[in-house]
Amino acid sequence: IFENTEPCVEFKDVTFGYDNHIVLNDMNFAIYPGEQVTLTGRTGAGKSTIFKLLLGLYRPNSGEALIEGEAAYRLSDKEKRKKFGYVEQSFHMVPGTVRDQITLFDPAIGDEAVQAAAKLVGLHGTIVSLDDGYDTLCKPEIFSQGQWQLLSIARAVAGEPRILLLDEITANLDAETEEMVLRALKSASEGRTVISISHRVYQKDGTWRLITVYG
Ligand code: ATP
Ligand code: MG
Repeated sequence: IFENTEPCVEFKDVTFGYDNHIVLNDMNFAIYPGEQVTLTGRTGAGKSTIFKLLLGLYRPNSGEALIEGEAAYRLSDKEKRKKFGYVEQSFHMVPGTVRDQITLFDPAIGDEAVQAAAKLVGLHGTIVSLDDGYDTLCKPEIFSQGQWQLLSIARAVAGEPRILLLDEITANLDAETEEMVLRALKSASEGRTVISISHRVYQKDGTWRLITVYG
């Protein structure tokens, strides 16, 4: 079904190592628009490293890490935010309000987009019930761990990226909270390409393709 489309994410013969220690050796894969893919593999295999290459934080030693046909490391921060949203295991709070957590101070993300993102993950009601709503200054205690994780998904989708990169986002959550995050993820995945790193496959309905990273 993807024969006539260009991949949106592609690794071509990528070899990469930190210092002299090779982590990925001649890795190849292609992911097509709208696909939902899970990267699995043992700890230390290089799964998170694949994301770091896609985020352009490092350059491959050889080969190409491509986002929509362009070398990932060449993209500007602005281009990157248009292209993908990145969610990690833990939330990184920026000094500022709840709104700032979602916009990361990008003036292009207006109130409507902020609220749409919060509604998508089911946090809007919680936020408006805070003393200053979206203007509430963030402190660790204003949200639970699961709510912070929902907020990081809201942050990732606020820029309307075409691709979501999710690195073990439910790893530290209890079953009930995980359920909540997976529900948010389902809405957030709508119409997007989703690449997730997990020891488990998120949805067992067979729509997720598995790529095993051997390192
Ligand atoms: P896990 O399932 O435990 O998260 P992973 O598959 O995500 O593992 P990576 O984090 O990509 O694995 O790490 C791959 C290898 O690269 C490991 O041996 C790790 O120690 C090493 N590594 C990761 N980041 C760095 C770094 N910044 N500097 C040096 N070595 C690193
Ligand atoms: Mg990892």
